[in-house]
Amino acid sequence: MKKIYDYLVIGTGAAGLYFAIHAAKHGKVLLLSKDKIKDSNTYLAQGGIASVEKPNDSFEDHIQDTLVAGDELCNLKAVEMVVKEAPTVIDDLIDLGAKFSKETRKGFYSLHKEGGHTKSRVFHFKDATGKELVRALTKNVKSNPNIDIMENTISIDLLTEHQKKKVKKDQKGVTCFGAYVLNIKTDKVMKILAKSTILATGGAGQVYLHTSNPSPATGDGIAMAYRAGATISNLEFFKFHPTTLYTGKTEESSFLISEALRGFGGILKTRKKKEFMHKYHKLACLAPRDIVARAIDAEMKKSGDPCVYIDVTNFSAKKVIDSFPNIYKKCLEHGIDITKEMIPVVPAAHYQCGGVEADLNGRTDVRGLFAIGEVAQNGVHGANRLASNSLLEALVFAKRSAVYSKHYLEKSTLNFSGIKEWHSENFENAEEKIIVSFLKNNIKVLASRFVGIVRSKARLEMATKMVDLMLWQVRDYYNSTRITKETIELRNLADVASLLVRFAVFRKESRGLHYNLDYSEKDNKNWQKNTRIRSSGRTSKKDVN
Ligand SMILES: Cc1cc2nc3c(=O)[nH]c(=O)nc-3n(C[C@H](O)[C@H](O)[C@H](O)COP(=O)(O)OP(=O)(O)OC[C@H]3O[C@@H](n4cnc5c(N)ncnc54)[C@H](O)[C@@H]3O)c2cc1C
Repeated sequence: MKKIYDYLVIGTGAAGLYFAIHAAKHGKVLLLSKDKIKDSNTYLAQGGIASVEKPNDSFEDHIQDTLVAGDELCNLKAVEMVVKEAPTVIDDLIDLGAKFSKETRKGFYSLHKEGGHTKSRVFHFKDATGKELVRALTKNVKSNPNIDIMENTISIDLLTEHQKKKVKKDQKGVTCFGAYVLNIKTDKVMKILAKSTILATGGAGQVYLHTSNPSPATGDGIAMAYRAGATISNLEFFKFHPTTLYTGKTEESSFLISEALRGFGGILKTRKKKEFMHKYHKLACLAPRDIVARAIDAEMKKSGDPCVYIDVTNFSAKKVIDSFPNIYKKCLEHGIDITKEMIPVVPAAHYQCGGVEADLNGRTDVRGLFAIGEVAQNGVHGANRLASNSLLEALVFAKRSAVYSKHYLEKSTLNFSGIKEWHSENFENAEEKIIVSFLKNNIKVLASRFVGIVRSKARLEMATKMVDLMLWQVRDYYNSTRITKETIELRNLADVASLLVRFAVFRKESRGLHYNLDYSEKDNKNWQKNTRIRSSGRTSKKDVN
């Protein structure tokens, strides 16, 4: 292993892989993934990547659609940059071997029109765009001699002056020197030094009971950056997908029941087969995503039922199976024949709009630390994200920060001396898995009940009281047991839940994805710009000798 890397990239989704490919042109890269390379939100992306292509479309239209979704909180410069750089990124992906579906007759790319977009502009590969993207990027990464890869390796904490033997009293600002990482297979903790560290760790959907995100999405990047002293912003804006399959079991990741099913004529109903969407919006079941999610949440709270249902039993079985073969198959695996029975669905956490604050080059306010992709808040999405803009944002920022970081490397002079080795003596083995699962479940219940789709002053007051106790329990457990992947993730989930509550309390209005029953929407007298929280940079017992 190299002694000091030019780039330590944490995460192998679209952002991390694409960054690595571009950064490897001018430096040595170490790419980390806590599981296998493919275990990411990116791999699951179905819809695609938005980019202006057709003559009837324009950058202005795409910019406008993004700003409307962002509900007055987007950074115009960031939006313009992402939209205008999109076609170059699509061309680059094609050069790297990624495939996109084409129209059958003319050989042109087939572009979908998705909710919130006024034009057809979504490049996709069948209904598995993410899988194709990961395939193509992984192939490039694996054949690049300037990129080392470590799978099953989870980063624990970022290395800053706080891990040095002596922190200067008048220390101004913080610098990142790499990270402590745990090899999950060997149980060994390593100190990885790097001239620049790139957080590409994705989102935090796992903080909720129901999420479309896979198991790695435990908000590690936000928690590590927060502990290191970076600014976190806009975390109150969490996107929920209105309809994911409810199986009655605790699933790590919920299966999406696509909006296309409602477009097809599927009707949302209660357990007693009563339609309800007409009470919430004139478009009933075809109302915008966020309204549907809130309506379902309200019906579930009223009835006490754990889910609602989508009914397509009125249509011919053949038509349903032909139109939705994957949904039919997946539901059948759970014993539900959707041609004869209603499909049980719940809203699920889907995308985190806030995150580690970063500028147009992906720079955070910790020197040498960059944040790209879902972990970052760079002003593109504002209070709500437009469909298929997240892969795009991740890719554009990955490439930009790789180019920028070349200049950063040329200028920076870092002093790596004095950073302590990991301290792992005298800790008990965390053999009692029940404690971790109990604490993890508490976090998820708290986040889902009190900082979920619909918030209120009373719920947030209760959450504020409960979250401190929960945080104390988790930190105490973490500080007294040997480190494992589970305890690392538990601590990160607790930090993210605590931040979520604080952010939701800060915003005294309903805007975009943050809906508080005690504040009316569009009450511009309460307009608030970006919410921001920064810690002074804490350490844990394990890295303090
Ligand atoms: C079901 C689903 C469908 C979606 N569909 C679309 C779509 O059609 N279009 C669109 O634009 N967006 C879509 N999204 C959102 C989009 O997929 C994500 O926002 C995007 O893929 C995020 O990319 P990323 O590289 O930032 O993070 P991810 O792809 O989530 O990758 C994060 C990586 O970080 C690693 N990691 C995390 N913590 C650590 C740690 N401590 N140590 C080491 N490694 C770590 C993970 O293992 C993973 O490799 C969808 C999301 C989901 C869940």
